[in-house]
Amino acid sequence: MVPREVVVEPGSLGKPGDVVIVAGPEARHLVRVLRMGPGSRARLKDGCGRAFSATVISAGVSEVRFELHEETECGDDTLPLILMPAIIKGKRMDWLIQKACELGVRCIQPVITERTVSNPARDGSRARRWREIAVQALKQCRGNILTRVNAPMPLETLLDNPPGLRKIMLFEGEEGHFLLEELTETGSGVEIGIISGPEGGFSPGETGMCLQAGFRPVSLGSRILRAETASICAAAQVAAVHAIHCSGPGREGMFNDAGKGP
Ligand code: SAM
Repeated sequence: MVPREVVVEPGSLGKPGDVVIVAGPEARHLVRVLRMGPGSRARLKDGCGRAFSATVISAGVSEVRFELHEETECGDDTLPLILMPAIIKGKRMDWLIQKACELGVRCIQPVITERTVSNPARDGSRARRWREIAVQALKQCRGNILTRVNAPMPLETLLDNPPGLRKIMLFEGEEGHFLLEELTETGSGVEIGIISGPEGGFSPGETGMCLQAGFRPVSLGSRILRAETASICAAAQVAAVHAIHCSGPGREGMFNDAGKGP
């Protein structure tokens, strides 16, 4: 039987023979839902690229103890995508963060724009909550690598991104060029940055700055999507193209010769 994968707190895996404790609601889930008990085999991952085979040595609804055995491979299962959503209100931003992490976005860089409803004093505590949401999302989807959630930055500071980043702007004013076309034209192994606006959209000045900085405007279709819908729709398209590209030779036939998807 394939050992059950369990994501533990980042950085909590040490060396063979160590005991790792899972406590609280996660322990209850392991025992009540997954029926884990003493002797159950598992593969523990910490979201930072480390994984160990392990065995349950004691199990209760408040805590489950695992003994680590040998370390195993834990590849990077994130998408080559830096998602740069303008900060939006409360729960909608939490939802955007959670879904982007489930999809395996490599990094989320929240952006402060002219029309962002943001309070710099609160941004620090919001970033901490978003990082906790990322950890919980990784545990839920049993991913290998934790999505990095950066502290919010003003748009202007993001325009000259790391060199080599394919910069894409979700722009509802664009009519002739769609995101999926852009992705299929993107060379393989290229990291992508996708920026999206807040509830009130980018200001004309910001749109000009992004275009000037080399962001390519793309459409997600004729309908005006909510900010969080647009970001997740874009991340899902990157995930789909990336999955097909990673599924092995011969599948890229659906993409044109110029690119092989991110
Ligand atoms: N300008 C919009 C309006 O007229 O209501 C408000 C902005 S929209 C709610 C939030 C963001 O989602 C936009 O800034 C854009 O980045 C993205 N977006 C929404 N619909 C889109 C579409 N059809 N194509 C590309 N991007 C879109």
